[in-house]
Amino acid sequence: MRVLGLETSCDETGIALYDSERGLLGHRVYSQIQVHAEYGGVVPELASRDHIRKAKPLIQEVLDDAGLTLEQVDGIAFTSGPGLVGALLVGACLGNSLAWALNIPAIGVHHMEGHLLAPMLEDEQPDFPFIALLVSGGHTQLVKVEGIGRYELLGESLDDAAGEAFDKAAKMMNLPYPGGPALSALADQGDAQRFAFPRPMTDRPGLDFSFSGLKTFTRTTILNCAVDGVLAEQDKIDIAAGFQAAVVDTLAIKCKRAMQQTGVQRLIIAGGVGANRQLRAKLQTTAEALGGRVYYPRPELCTDNGAMIAYAGTQRLLAGQHSELAVSVVPRWPMTDLPAVDV
Ligand code: ATP
Ligand code: MG
Ligand code: FE
Repeated sequence: MRVLGLETSCDETGIALYDSERGLLGHRVYSQIQVHAEYGGVVPELASRDHIRKAKPLIQEVLDDAGLTLEQVDGIAFTSGPGLVGALLVGACLGNSLAWALNIPAIGVHHMEGHLLAPMLEDEQPDFPFIALLVSGGHTQLVKVEGIGRYELLGESLDDAAGEAFDKAAKMMNLPYPGGPALSALADQGDAQRFAFPRPMTDRPGLDFSFSGLKTFTRTTILNCAVDGVLAEQDKIDIAAGFQAAVVDTLAIKCKRAMQQTGVQRLIIAGGVGANRQLRAKLQTTAEALGGRVYYPRPELCTDNGAMIAYAGTQRLLAGQHSELAVSVVPRWPMTDLPAVDV
């Protein structure tokens, strides 16, 4: 089965073709970073309009790359939530219209299920069950995954998501938008020991996270170091390193705890922060020390993309599920509400 995936939940237009026999046939991501950069954050209305502009030409490019036509597509998967309602509606309208015109099924996909299943697009796929660390711009969650749609939430952030904390800390350091990757690039050159960043909520039991304290610690450290409001380059680099190490350590401590608590030896990392090199390295050591293994998608499939939506949609379409041809999206949507897939 060949499925066209459409991702338009936020500020990336992601289009992909996935084939259940041959794997990923192609994918393209157009990032709206330039559109939103001057505002320092995503402007929902501009996002919707840009998705409208870019989705159709990207679909054509992906089809051309794969040497296929729309008539050779067997199903459509589009992100139906969570996300920005206007942006979601673009993908839902387009997905349903295509499905109707081509007389093929369409399915609305949960964006976080997409992230969670992205490691399945790689050659080495984890067997179920596994523990998933979902770390993105809007979510930080530890999930026990028994199968597709069989998700048990083990813990989550009580305040900021990990990616959001990266972005906010980067903004305090005047790094270019979006800050996560920029902060991480600086951090890799710094001394992570120089400033004693806390490891929030690691001294008490449980698998929840809190990252807002790290933001406050970052702000205070910047104020203490700055001379006449200006931060020396070395200070900036060391603050970035301290911040990154604190986030990475905190995530690793909780992943270890989740693996020990559940006895599950496989760990996957997904979501934009999963592209972070230090995090990938640290979790690899953590999992191996427990006799387990870590799996992650290539960096371009950690951040938003259409491939993960096409993959998740394919699995559900193959299981006989599909959405009604009505345009409905779910801006706020707990993943534990999803129906299970029987295998
Ligand atoms: P959600 O998936 O929760 O709805 P989102 O789709 O906006 O949120 P993603 O696209 O999965 O999030 O990830 C974007 C986030 O990942 C941003 O916060 C970004 O700063 C962060 N990020 C991307 N690359 C890195 C990196 N190398 N190091 C740290 N953070 C990163
Ligand atoms: Mg984004
Ligand atoms: Fe995302």
